[in-house]
Amino acid sequence: MTTNATTVPAYAAPAANAPLERTTVPRRAVGEHDVLIDIKYAGICHSDIHQARDGWGEGIFPMVPGHEIAGIVAEVGPGVTKHKVGDRVGVGCFVDSCRECAYCRQGLEQYCTQGMTGTYNALGKDGEPTYGGYSTRIVVDENYTLRIPEGIALDEAAPLLCAGITLYSPLAHWQAGPGKKVAIVGLGGLGHMGVKIAHALGAEVTVLSQSLKKQEDGLKLGADHYYATSDPETFTKLAGTFDLIISTVSAPLDFGAYLSLVKTDGALVNVGAPEEPVALNLFSLIGGRKTLAGSMIGGIAETQEMLDFCAAHGLGSEIEVIGAEQINEAYERVVASDVRYRFVIDTSTI
Ligand SMILES: [Zn+2]
Ligand SMILES: [Zn+2]
Repeated sequence: MTTNATTVPAYAAPAANAPLERTTVPRRAVGEHDVLIDIKYAGICHSDIHQARDGWGEGIFPMVPGHEIAGIVAEVGPGVTKHKVGDRVGVGCFVDSCRECAYCRQGLEQYCTQGMTGTYNALGKDGEPTYGGYSTRIVVDENYTLRIPEGIALDEAAPLLCAGITLYSPLAHWQAGPGKKVAIVGLGGLGHMGVKIAHALGAEVTVLSQSLKKQEDGLKLGADHYYATSDPETFTKLAGTFDLIISTVSAPLDFGAYLSLVKTDGALVNVGAPEEPVALNLFSLIGGRKTLAGSMIGGIAETQEMLDFCAAHGLGSEIEVIGAEQINEAYERVVASDVRYRFVIDTSTI
């Protein structure tokens, strides 16, 4: 006997740019391979705000954002083998993919040729809109549900499901580690996880931030060096220094200037999501055989690897836990970069 389709309390944006408000949304019946999760915490990602405000266009409203979900399994379908009732689990940015394309088969579901199914603001295979983690319960296929190891508190684990994997994946792919000089551009929700993870991987870590306002934090989080990008001398001093730079900022960046800080054969990887295109003089790549790349979250297997890595190294996100009624205020503070470093909603307040 499994739970039938139901409705659950949630916080939703009723229309683009409208404040989020309390409502209810449908959850499907628990199917053969589904797990029903009691959501305990949901992180607020900058991309929640982009989408709730329709910055990327074609949003599905009402929209329940939230793709940094941590909770406890409340029920499992009869065919579920990965999880059992009471398990600590997480859900990240997607809840399904085609499962058949070359990328899905390699565990790169985030690059599925059919397009992954977003945890919210997407249509599932049943044609119904998906609703995210600003809610009390969610039903997700077991294969798109992660195990949160003991040793990471659920509230500190939630932001790992997007912010953590967004930084872990490029750090792993471009082999950050001992002997490598890595710079993280921007010390926000994404950047602070980049510093922690790059440091734990053994790299020499530099933060490149607009000002020195968060320098003390950055060094405490594991950075070896901290520079202000508002100081033009930073770019002279650090020319040709880094094996890898990861930019986490969603504002348009002078990519040419940052590429001048990359060593020959090094890479500048963008994980931020600017709404506007950027201009780049390609000579900044040619001189030094440099790579300008992008990276988007990570696959399910790699996300599990990241969670296990974070647990082994005692890494969680730096968080400020809020009640659901504070979501709209929190959005304003995220936009103003006034959070250290991730808001996490206590979903018992929904
Ligand atoms: Zn996100
Ligand atoms: Zn696929």
